[in-house]
Amino acid sequence: VVEVVESPEDVRRAVAAARDRGQRVGLVPTMGALHHGHAQLIAECRHETDLAVVSIFVNPTQFGPAEDFDRYPRSLDDDVRRCEAAGAGLVFAPSVATVYPNGGGSTYVEVPGLSDILEGACRPGHFRGVATVVLKLFEIVQPDVAIFGQKDYQQQLVIRRMVRDLHVPVVIRVAPTVREPDGLAQSSRNRYLNVQERQDALALYRALEAAQQAVAAGQHEADRIRQILRDTLESRPGVKLEYAEVADADTLEPLSDLGKGRRVVALLAAQVGSTRLIDNALLLE
Ligand code: AMP
Repeated sequence: VVEVVESPEDVRRAVAAARDRGQRVGLVPTMGALHHGHAQLIAECRHETDLAVVSIFVNPTQFGPAEDFDRYPRSLDDDVRRCEAAGAGLVFAPSVATVYPNGGGSTYVEVPGLSDILEGACRPGHFRGVATVVLKLFEIVQPDVAIFGQKDYQQQLVIRRMVRDLHVPVVIRVAPTVREPDGLAQSSRNRYLNVQERQDALALYRALEAAQQAVAAGQHEADRIRQILRDTLESRPGVKLEYAEVADADTLEPLSDLGKGRRVVALLAAQVGSTRLIDNALLLE
């Protein structure tokens, strides 16, 4: 059975033992409520390293005051079984007091610019919380490689920028989004959806598909593509759009035209009932 530890000292001991055996160490940060998307990150981590460490921590500092921190699903026993099945070698499941020993007076990491747009504009402080907890996890585990999901597209860019700015010696890998058979991106928050909302939620994937089809058919005006994203999303009365953006895939700079050999990403956020969902797709690679 996979070992589950709660203290940084126990993580360091297990990681040091792995290094003594000449092994490479990988980290998959998660908030638990694990699904196939997480399992794929763990499998990717195992592919690249010898010891896959999975952290399970619902990080309070990345939730806004009116967000779902209290009701976020917590299912540690089930998560540990999934980690084991996916090939994890160690699960790190610390308490809030362990991760934030100085409580609300914590030291924070800010990644300006990228953190202030799109998700960051809708969720002020979110990426400050993400960057802070991920740097803490990097300091505790000191992995060679860390794996993130494309599902959280902006998050992965924020982490890459932080790692470069702070010279953190870790390689960041991104794994593709795992979807349900009908296309809905797997998410821990999907379990909040009732039957009607689960149907409505498909509008995010449909919108991205419609955008990809338009680009394949030669559409290169970003505003036209934004309109397609919005129209598809708002064709479902239960879906409330937060943003639909077409942006440079590396900087998230909003685009007006898709030419010039750029990589381009479409990014969506919408409220479905009381559940907030995000999704994205590369339009040009
Ligand atoms: P979370 O537990 O939601 O904080 O996510 C932990 C990691 O899993 C993040 O790097 C996410 O981007 C990634 N992830 C979440 N959902 C998916 C998915 N459907 N496919 C691939 N990776 C995912």
